[in-house]
Amino acid sequence: MKILVINAGSSSLKYQLMDMQQEKVLAKGICERIGIAGSRLKQESDRSEYIVEKPMETHADAILMVTDALLDKENGVIASMSEIAAVGHRVVHGGEFFKSSVIIDDKVKEAIDVCSGLAPLHNPPNLIGIKACEKAMPNVPMVAVFDTAFHQTMPAEAYLYALPYEVYEKHKIRKYGFHGTSHKYVAQRASQMLDRPIESLNLITCHLGNGSSVTAIKGGKSVDTSMGFTPLAGVVMGTRSGMIDPAIVPYLMENEDMSLQDINNLLNKQSGVLGISGVSSDFRDIDGAAEEGNERAQLALEVFAYSIRKYIGQYTAIMGGVDAIIFTAGIGENNFKMRMSILKGLDGVGITIDEEKNNVRGQEIDVSAVDAKVKTLVIPTNEELMIALDTQKLVSK
Ligand code: ADP
Repeated sequence: MKILVINAGSSSLKYQLMDMQQEKVLAKGICERIGIAGSRLKQESDRSEYIVEKPMETHADAILMVTDALLDKENGVIASMSEIAAVGHRVVHGGEFFKSSVIIDDKVKEAIDVCSGLAPLHNPPNLIGIKACEKAMPNVPMVAVFDTAFHQTMPAEAYLYALPYEVYEKHKIRKYGFHGTSHKYVAQRASQMLDRPIESLNLITCHLGNGSSVTAIKGGKSVDTSMGFTPLAGVVMGTRSGMIDPAIVPYLMENEDMSLQDINNLLNKQSGVLGISGVSSDFRDIDGAAEEGNERAQLALEVFAYSIRKYIGQYTAIMGGVDAIIFTAGIGENNFKMRMSILKGLDGVGITIDEEKNNVRGQEIDVSAVDAKVKTLVIPTNEELMIALDTQKLVSK
């Protein structure tokens, strides 16, 4: 069975065609600058790296370019569209409607549209991508896989903010959590690596990329996560502040004469390790600057590590213990110095890593010290595979 995975953003559309028998990526690519001058498609496969520069006014144009590229005589990987058994779509926000992935019908599309209010930058392009695919592949079943769905198992004590209850009832303001597909994937892999049923495990998964989140997973279910009503909450990130005292917002608005837009910009784009270091949001740049003696860069690294270490402590407490800590995404998979730094001083609670084993990038590996009571695992995430697996499961029913 071949499954097409689509991740539609506001001006881009990423895709992967997967052969599910071997769990192999046949082709992957991206359409960039949709609706903007200079749009192009770039596709990689065993056959070639294929680039097509052609105007794409809409996501529907982009999908047609994708199907053309997949079918292309020289660069394509399929002979006919009938080879695509199903399409899996990444959808960012499923609100309280979706607790798992679903086959897309009119009702599902309506609900995704309703959730657009909660994710105005993400859900509208996700929906446009779905509609464009339906037009190009009218008889192919489509599945929606939500970033929020995995966290719908959180108990009310974890997801409710201590605001007047009516705020939750009227506006659905609560913790939703994000990166769910990634947290779920690495938790399943961890259970396989540890050779223990997921039902028996307390896991803390750290998805550390430009956006970062930490999740407590008990018996395979998300019981708490660091992101909140939006992906701004939780740990310190590349350019996002993470958790701050909410009173800072009105204070700055009043004393710096900042508008709502200014504040949004400050918290989302100018804060995090970029804001503290003044160097960059990319950890490779900050590492470099810190090595050259830049003190603010060093400070940014320490604040980041500290914010994650705190979540590890919180989540160990709420689960009543932890069996394994898992690192994934750009920083989690590659930055071995940051992994060390995050876990510094946790030997007392049984979390010890083997420095030599830890000296790896982008590999699935157990980096725990031999006598560590709590395992530390590095697991490259694979959200596309998770989306494809969910899609396969639903359409095979
Ligand atoms: P996104 O959230 O945009 O998907 P990523 O998961 O790619 O982000 O993470 C980006 C971060 O990962 C950057 O700070 C970068 O420094 C770090 N990173 C990515 N690849 C490497 C690498 N090979 N070595 C060290 N750090 C890396």
